[in-house]
Amino acid sequence: MIIRSAEFTISAVRLEQCPANGEPEIAFVGRSNVGKSSLLNKLLNRRNLARISGQPGKTQTLNFYHINNTFYLVDLPGYGYARVSKELRAKWGPMVEEYLMRRNSLIQVVQLIDVRHPPTRDDQQMFEWLHYHGRTPLVVATKADKIARGMYAKHTQQIRVNLGMQSSQLPVILTSADTGYGIQEVWDTLARKLKE
Ligand code: GDP
Repeated sequence: MIIRSAEFTISAVRLEQCPANGEPEIAFVGRSNVGKSSLLNKLLNRRNLARISGQPGKTQTLNFYHINNTFYLVDLPGYGYARVSKELRAKWGPMVEEYLMRRNSLIQVVQLIDVRHPPTRDDQQMFEWLHYHGRTPLVVATKADKIARGMYAKHTQQIRVNLGMQSSQLPVILTSADTGYGIQEVWDTLARKLKE
């Protein structure tokens, strides 16, 4: 994918604020600190477009990035982080849920999993929930540079088993925002989806 332009469009706090032009959207979900901002920046070949949190759980908005004036990448709030107040959780939970369940222009959800650790209960629940709602996510493992190459297959398989991924057809793409490993494969997969 050649990124000719990548523009931050809006941080939506209500669904009515989401772009209304009907262009396809690809949403990214993952636990706080999974490396979502880093991966988005790497995918877009920008240093600082998506904020690198440092402070997990801060982003409570749906952040839209308009790519090549043809589609959007959507950065959803990180889940499963205790420091987010109960009140905030109560507020963003339903909004994210509604977006994921009802958004017509949403063509693909990408779920990020930290490759170093087996998927957590939160990860499993998110995967199941998405699958149940017909939004089977593209699973992308992050921080590949933190494990030895010889362990790639083992960790990928562990993710597969822990998430209960039924079909061996479904890929788990291993990436590193530091080295760029796997970034091309993510784009190739998303580009195919955008063409459908
Ligand atoms: P977010 O909360 O999911 O947006 O996560 P961030 O992108 O802010 O990353 C959380 C932490 O993990 C930061 O300290 C990043 O520098 C680090 N990180 C993210 N991706 C990678 C990666 O591919 N490799 C390594 N080594 N560190 C990463």
